[in-house]
Amino acid sequence: MALSREQYDSIMRGYAQSRDRNRRLRQERRDSVYLHVPEIRRLDEQVPETAASRLRMRLSGSGDEASRKAQEAAQQQLLDLQSRRAALLKENGYSEDYLDLTYDCPICKDTGYVNGEKCICFRRKEIALLYDQSHLQVQLPEAGFDKLLERYYQGADLENFRRSREAAVSFIRTFDDPQELGLLLYGTTGAGKTFLSVCIAGELLKRGRSVLYFSAATLFDRLSGYSYDARGRDDFRVFTEDLYSCDLLIIDDLGTELTNQFVSSQLFACLSERILRKKGTVISTNLSLQEFQKRYSDRTFSRVTYHYRLCKMTGSDIRVLKRREAQTARRAAGT
Ligand SMILES: [Zn+2]
Repeated sequence: MALSREQYDSIMRGYAQSRDRNRRLRQERRDSVYLHVPEIRRLDEQVPETAASRLRMRLSGSGDEASRKAQEAAQQQLLDLQSRRAALLKENGYSEDYLDLTYDCPICKDTGYVNGEKCICFRRKEIALLYDQSHLQVQLPEAGFDKLLERYYQGADLENFRRSREAAVSFIRTFDDPQELGLLLYGTTGAGKTFLSVCIAGELLKRGRSVLYFSAATLFDRLSGYSYDARGRDDFRVFTEDLYSCDLLIIDDLGTELTNQFVSSQLFACLSERILRKKGTVISTNLSLQEFQKRYSDRTFSRVTYHYRLCKMTGSDIRVLKRREAQTARRAAGT
């Protein structure tokens, strides 16, 4: 699916609003700093003047010794102004860059484009508009590697959990030069597979990567919706291109969809294409490896086992444990 004209305009309006907001913020900071340290205002007023006179000298300079010296002096004066200003800011408890213009996205300076190409932040906004990522958005604030708690696991389950967490950390660390192109998180219901994949998504989003998150049921519904609709051909093409090209694809709860020939072949196409493009994928499933192989064909299974790290996650259902903890805490507070 491509952005409509309105969606495109709304993204661009968002950038304009960011730029306005950041300019206003700088103006407010300036006003308050100038009020407290008037000397900084005087220095700021001298900077453009000095810079302009240096430029005039450079343009009109005859290139002889005297003109070269004058240019050097002007350059030095400018540097002195800047370091005096930085020192004054520091002395008064501000950071050196306190009065600099800030950007929500320093890569494209809130324009959405870098060298004529869409910036990664634009791609993220596009994904958010085109595909419902609310499930991921709801879970993200709760997620984080510091919130992966060992106390919910014991014995072999704890060993599995530690290995999976370690695999996730290494997957993120080597994301740009991957050793494995994916993680298959498999095991019992409620053992923290989805939570771990959301933690991975959160880390990579923080690093500016594009992440697409789908439950298996939604993903294949969407694909089949496009492919059975004669007018959906272009949408299908654009959608699969997004699926194949986003930095990280998460397919949650694989196996809960109604698996048929179409699903099986689409899964194979998607995973193969992403492996070819060296793009990272995280799949979570409650299926055992044998069930996975039986359901999605040997060729899909062999791609996954060859290119992905297989992470078994087992244990009691963490949601149930958490509910129990909350009940106990409420009871303790009540007595
Ligand atoms: Zn950007």
